[in-house]
Amino acid sequence: MLVFKFGGASVKDAQGVINLGNVVGSYAGNQILVVVSAMGKTTNALERLTNAYFNGTDDMHEIFEEIKEYHYHIAHELFGENHPVFNDIANTFVEIDWAIEDDPHDDYDFIYDQIVSIGELVSTRIVNAWFNHTGITSKWLDVRGYIHTDNTYREGVVDWDKTRAAIQKDIPAMLNKGVVVTQGFLGGTSENFTTTLGREGSDYTASIIAACLGAESVTTWKDVPGILNADPKHFADTIKFDELSYQEAIEMTYYGASVIHPKTIKPLQNARIPLLVKPFNNPNDPGTVIKEGAVNKFEKPVIIVKQNQVLLSISANDYSFISERHLSEIFGFFAKHHVKVNMMQTSALSFTACIDYAADKFEKLLQTLKESFKVKYNNELTLITLRHYTNAAVDEITEGKTVLMKQTNRNTAQVVLK
Ligand code: ASP
Repeated sequence: MLVFKFGGASVKDAQGVINLGNVVGSYAGNQILVVVSAMGKTTNALERLTNAYFNGTDDMHEIFEEIKEYHYHIAHELFGENHPVFNDIANTFVEIDWAIEDDPHDDYDFIYDQIVSIGELVSTRIVNAWFNHTGITSKWLDVRGYIHTDNTYREGVVDWDKTRAAIQKDIPAMLNKGVVVTQGFLGGTSENFTTTLGREGSDYTASIIAACLGAESVTTWKDVPGILNADPKHFADTIKFDELSYQEAIEMTYYGASVIHPKTIKPLQNARIPLLVKPFNNPNDPGTVIKEGAVNKFEKPVIIVKQNQVLLSISANDYSFISERHLSEIFGFFAKHHVKVNMMQTSALSFTACIDYAADKFEKLLQTLKESFKVKYNNELTLITLRHYTNAAVDEITEGKTVLMKQTNRNTAQVVLK
């Protein structure tokens, strides 16, 4: 049994959906479960819609109309004027109409998940309809009844026992009848509310389902030839890895390589399921395979760039040394606001942490920290991580830049640049 994951870029237009159908069609004879993300940049647009609703701004209806227009346009190109999918699309979008009917009363993260999840619910309706339209027998599955999470909205924590039981109970029989199409990124709580698994979480969805079903492999179809040593948008002469170990892939995603969601690898490693990263435009290319026993070859360092970083410098109000008690309090605040530390350093009088800038979380964290500490910060910084670095590569990257923090160990060098 194969699990395929298609990201937003692969279904950004009608041609993408047609291509997806061709890829899946070329694997006829296999049991296939297809995990699909929201189309193109829909999740970003739905985030803007959520913010407009939450803040009561005038552009709310305009943003919503654009999102609807975009999907109807794709559906018209695929199905012409009349097709039952138009009803499905309308019935999916009406959930947003209901959600934004009254002024917001609920918590932001809860509202976010109820609105943003519509992207995957509608994209899978279109893909599933396209499959059936072109002769691929397939069934649409609402993943929210299978991936069970707690109610940490926007970062749902998977209840593996419940999830495994639900997936193993129903999905194998469905796969005997045809392709199963389901949503990436979404989960459901025990009260039947929708959760999301964190941005770019569709890879994780594929991994959860594959692990629960003991799939032969997971393939994530991308707009790149496989896993590269660096993002070709930032660096020339990138090289592709033919294979990577689970360990290396985990390290790369931990440091921010956005090619795969960080939570994806571990469940696959535990279940010894290979993960293939392949180009959706050239399905016959081998791409990169992450598997047990893979031989890592690093002809060039792996370079991971994280932009929009903040360097926070925290010191005690009375200018005393930074003690373990202070550190434990500071980490308590990071945990409370779900802020991940990308890099950190302590000195006698201060603790410095490099974190991603996310406006809402950052303001809350700052407020809390300022109640007990002195806080200074620099923003709009870039964190660059080099795995298997050479000193020459680090020099090249830092040349002419102001380095605000630097750390190296045997395998990894990290620099925060202004
Ligand atoms: N659509 C979601 C996002 O853009 C999930 C995903 O694509 O993996 O974050």
